[in-house]
Amino acid sequence: MRYLSVTDICSQVWCEQQMIYKMEQPLLIEPEKTAAMSEGSSIHLARELEVHDVVSVTTQTREDRWAIKCLNILAMIPVLQGGGRVREFPVFRELDGVYVVGVIDELGYSSKGELELRELKTRATPTLPGSAQRRSHEIQVSIYKILFDGMVSGVLQADVLIQHLKLRPEQELGPQVKEHAMKCGLTVSTFRDVMELTCLNLTYSDLPMIDSLKLEYCFQGDGSLLGCDEVTFQKEKVLDQVTFYLSYWKGLRDFQGVDIEDAWKCRMCDYSSICEWRAQKTKNIAFRTFNKRFK
Ligand code: SF4
Repeated sequence: MRYLSVTDICSQVWCEQQMIYKMEQPLLIEPEKTAAMSEGSSIHLARELEVHDVVSVTTQTREDRWAIKCLNILAMIPVLQGGGRVREFPVFRELDGVYVVGVIDELGYSSKGELELRELKTRATPTLPGSAQRRSHEIQVSIYKILFDGMVSGVLQADVLIQHLKLRPEQELGPQVKEHAMKCGLTVSTFRDVMELTCLNLTYSDLPMIDSLKLEYCFQGDGSLLGCDEVTFQKEKVLDQVTFYLSYWKGLRDFQGVDIEDAWKCRMCDYSSICEWRAQKTKNIAFRTFNKRFK
């Protein structure tokens, strides 16, 4: 595994067994859920177009694709420095020995002048999510803050990224990527050039750390706002949770399905009919009930 996405960690918060099934057997997901996901993507795209144009650039290598992420960051730094609003800000860095990658939905300044992270969540029904789902959203935005704050305080190192992702620093960038960089006012030739520029710009950008975390829930049907949550950032708690979730990927423990008090999640799970964790838990409960009755 070269890197892990923040959304992978959030899937673990819901149910690790389900996350594994989704990776191994994605076709079992109900078609309505896939349709709802693409509806949600259209709303995100519409929001992105409010802030900037989307330019398509042909990439040829993994280094090209990472260079585009870096060029996007380089283009967004001056907007944030000027007090503006940006969308789809890429964030990445090493956490507890694992490279973690994500994309912040939106960054902008509040009326108090504080840097605010806004994460838009679209809902298939006009209702707010329950506490279990909210918990995974809170962890998501908290991890984004940890990644962003590290990037603007000089934690990001080109060599660490290159090593984890097994990228070739001297790889010549593709012609379209170079052309795109030129339009952004940058002359770059190799992936290392872009990466080093990004690390330097972030470190000396004087961008503040994120002050507040906000979750916005809107209904896919008509795009109306259902509600907002302000998330209290609890650094130590989130870091402990991240260490626990990453320990699975580091081979330090087995995956887990849901605990008995969260068994309600199984009723809405696409994998409940094949789930071995659920079958085992049900067998254990049946066995315990049998023993109680005959003692
Ligand atoms: Fe997880 Fe329950 Fe789904 Fe199994 S059935 S994957 S334990 S949510």
